[in-house]
Amino acid sequence: MKLKRKVKVGNIEIGGGAPVSVQSMTNTLTADIEATVNQIKKLQKAGCDIVRLAVCDENDVNSCRKILSAVSVPLVADIQFDWKLAAACSEIGFAKVRFNPGNIGSNENVRKLTEVCKANGTPIRIGVNMGSLSKSVLDKYGRSAQALCESALEHAALLEKFGFYDTVLSVKASNVTECISAYKLLDEKCDYPLHVGITESGGGLQGVVKSSVGIGSLLAIGIGDTVRVSLTGDPVNEVIVAKKILQSLGLRKGCEIISCPTCSRCKIDLSAIHDKVDKMLEGVDIPLKVAVMGCVVNGPGEAAEADFGVAGGGDGKSVLFRKGKTLKTVANDEIIPELKKLIEESKENNGKSIEQVQ
Ligand code: SF4
Repeated sequence: MKLKRKVKVGNIEIGGGAPVSVQSMTNTLTADIEATVNQIKKLQKAGCDIVRLAVCDENDVNSCRKILSAVSVPLVADIQFDWKLAAACSEIGFAKVRFNPGNIGSNENVRKLTEVCKANGTPIRIGVNMGSLSKSVLDKYGRSAQALCESALEHAALLEKFGFYDTVLSVKASNVTECISAYKLLDEKCDYPLHVGITESGGGLQGVVKSSVGIGSLLAIGIGDTVRVSLTGDPVNEVIVAKKILQSLGLRKGCEIISCPTCSRCKIDLSAIHDKVDKMLEGVDIPLKVAVMGCVVNGPGEAAEADFGVAGGGDGKSVLFRKGKTLKTVANDEIIPELKKLIEESKENNGKSIEQVQ
């Protein structure tokens, strides 16, 4: 793992030891300004640090002028083949453009694009996918992790020719092991910050699992400076999953529920309590671990790292505990109001426990 050079995307830093940022992409029509602005605001509210949108033509560029002035989160323009669109997006204030310079077809045009991006301080993300490898790379390496890595470096070299190093790289594949191998190779070979993700990972549980395994495996060994979870459906889910991946690796502070799978010792409706606590914690942005455990035999001990929690007892009563120690016994219908009080108390104390505050 190498420390990567730092790239600034609006007010967010990528690489150079900066916190790993969360990205997502709109799936509205960019020309539909109102729908796109609304979705960007929802993504930002969910915790997205950087939002990307597809810019397909001049009409989209014009829409983006209004979109840029209506939102505060840094925006990235995703451009397929037209370098002039990429240059126009840099000019109108996009915080980054995603564009592969090998698609331009002329050194002179690459030079012109780098000049515009340098003048505006716009970084470029080179995004190589297994599905879009050039014929020459495929002939040399086949469809492989090495092909992804070499292709990204080839694109980056085109920018380097003109003294442009404000670059972020990604090498995505939908095959998790191949994708992980490609990022490992790339991490060894360059000091550009890496945007990590598993492309076309699907939707629902499959997409969440594939993305978590792929992105999580890389982050766990220190690879990845910014992440995008790709899920079919509402992109807000991508942000929620990305934040949970970062939280589970201790890379971002936030709320976490510790809950057991239940067994025959459990005498309360733990699943319903879990769901209610999950709802109560929505949008709560403080470091907090709340335990929802099925029984007093093992619950408080197993969840001793939790700030507080509940362990189900018999006789319609359960035990509230803090850091593994009993706080009090409550009737089961008091569990939710009591946990709510503790959550509110933590919010007021900004995530600090009562002991820390005193
Ligand atoms: S905490 Fe209790 S109820 Fe939950 S799985 Fe462990 S033993 Fe079973």
